[in-house]
Amino acid sequence: MIQLQTIGRFSPNHGARPEPARIDMLVLHYTGMKTAAAALERLCDPRARVSAHYVVEENGVIWRLVPESRRAFHAGVCCWEGESDLNAVSLGIEIVNPGHEWGYRAFPEAQMTAVERLCRDILSRHRIPPYRIVGHSDIAPDRKSDPGELFEWRRLAEKGIGLWPSPAAELTRRRGRGVGVVERAAALADLARIGYCVGAATVQVAVAAFQRRFRPERWDGLIDSETRVRLKQVREAVEAARTEAEAARRRRYN
Ligand SMILES: [Zn+2]
Repeated sequence: MIQLQTIGRFSPNHGARPEPARIDMLVLHYTGMKTAAAALERLCDPRARVSAHYVVEENGVIWRLVPESRRAFHAGVCCWEGESDLNAVSLGIEIVNPGHEWGYRAFPEAQMTAVERLCRDILSRHRIPPYRIVGHSDIAPDRKSDPGELFEWRRLAEKGIGLWPSPAAELTRRRGRGVGVVERAAALADLARIGYCVGAATVQVAVAAFQRRFRPERWDGLIDSETRVRLKQVREAVEAARTEAEAARRRRYN
């Protein structure tokens, strides 16, 4: 394996993981600041109390700010699969992009390649199942929209990083058409089984987070027929991956 090139820089913003330590989740972010320098500055500023394990610049340079054994402060108030202290169990990667506030733009090739390498390196060292590789907006849909609809989840999945089942060809014909009450309830059940924590007041933002990730052409938060079908597809992929992870775990202990 090629040694991953990273540059170390110290961030004081980290803490101990609870014992016994478990790292089984990967959270991807965008920095959402005007420049990479400003983002690095903030992630290392003791007053800001925020950090991430890694920062990936647009030119592909990877910064290492917090050791993986330590808890970094990147997730904030969040929830996934019913669990809310996700900093305790995750690694966080900040991907430099001005974000929706300062001029959201495509992630350049050099940056995507670096993200890919970094993720693969992490996955070679930690047992992180594909359904626990998420975007910040997946775990905090009411507050966050990063890494956003331009992030290439599909490309990562093709390299074995996270889930992105190929949509059926019929899907796009159903965009915009509403669904009935029963289908809507089924859609919300699927959303929860994928891992999203959905409350009565957060349905639309959670659906929008799902769409940014799995149907990025339209992220209006409305459950149209296409979204309904896509939810079912992703839920099935997640359940298959869970079954597989469970079987692998049993093999290890037998
Ligand atoms: Zn974030």
